[in-house]
Amino acid sequence: AKADGRNRYRFFDSTLDAAARRRSLIERELALAIAEGKLDINYQPLVDAQTRRVVCAEALVRWNHPTLGAISPGEFIPIAEETGQIGAIGSWVLRRACTQAASWPDHIRIAVNLSSRQFMGPGLLPLVEAALKQSGLPTHRLELEVTESLLMESSIGVEETLQSLSRLGLRIALDDFGTGFSSLSYLRRYHFDKLKIDQSFITDLETNPDSRAIVEAVIRLARDLRMSVAAEGVETKGQFDLLRQLGCGEIQGYLVGRPMQIDGFEAYLQENGDA
Ligand code: C2E
Ligand code: CA
Ligand code: CA
Ligand code: CA
Repeated sequence: AKADGRNRYRFFDSTLDAAARRRSLIERELALAIAEGKLDINYQPLVDAQTRRVVCAEALVRWNHPTLGAISPGEFIPIAEETGQIGAIGSWVLRRACTQAASWPDHIRIAVNLSSRQFMGPGLLPLVEAALKQSGLPTHRLELEVTESLLMESSIGVEETLQSLSRLGLRIALDDFGTGFSSLSYLRRYHFDKLKIDQSFITDLETNPDSRAIVEAVIRLARDLRMSVAAEGVETKGQFDLLRQLGCGEIQGYLVGRPMQIDGFEAYLQENGDA
């Protein structure tokens, strides 16, 4: 049993090792990718549940490495947050997304994800103002997505930052709603313009009565608090129809459209009569 234990320990050790090696590889390669402008942005449409017109697009960063292949933002964003590389990535995504969205029809907003590290420093407000000014994007067309973990990690100054962003005239969305520990208390402390119901509640919306009850309650809550509400991860027509019936305002997910490169997204707008 002892030898067994030792073997198992060695096994975990080498697994950790491999993970650590991949991490530091990603860290180094990411620095190069940033410096050489190798990151890209995909745009995923959000449609109005009633009219099915595109009302917004979410900017999702992409990294296609020549030998490692496509690396998911779910993997490299957390690393970039720890190393501080998120600053350069975040400001590039914001500027680029605003610039590309500025040429879209006026009724289409652009949503950009913010990470906690970006939120903490004093640089966010000037960055947002510069991105708006340089792109010419009207402020009301910019939406910033924040998560509860962001609010949790950067408790000092959050209220001030959120308020000054709101005062600029842009919109703040609370992303992944329902997955954190204290979602409701955040709704009382801060003002949000929009709630995005997390994908995990949508996936089993039609089969799990509990998920359905939660989704119904969140939609009602958003309405009562005068926020708009979006559902993410909508993959089936059944989910779409149910969400529309329940009064969900905006729908995002593979059913409506996958994240697309800029050319694909602009063609999508044309085809759907939104451009
Ligand atoms: P998120 O903000 O919750 O973004 C939604 C994720 O769900 C995206 O994954 C999107 O591609 C995926 N998705 C959309 N519709 C569907 C669907 O119908 N089914 C399924 N299964 N998935 C769907 P992605 O692009 O891999 O991004 C993962 C996460 O990485 C994002 O989650 C966000 O937290 C982070 N991220 C992406 N881009 C940025 C960025 O520019 N800045 C920051 N700070 N974070 C980013
Ligand atoms: Ca998001
Ligand atoms: Ca989300
Ligand atoms: Ca998420």
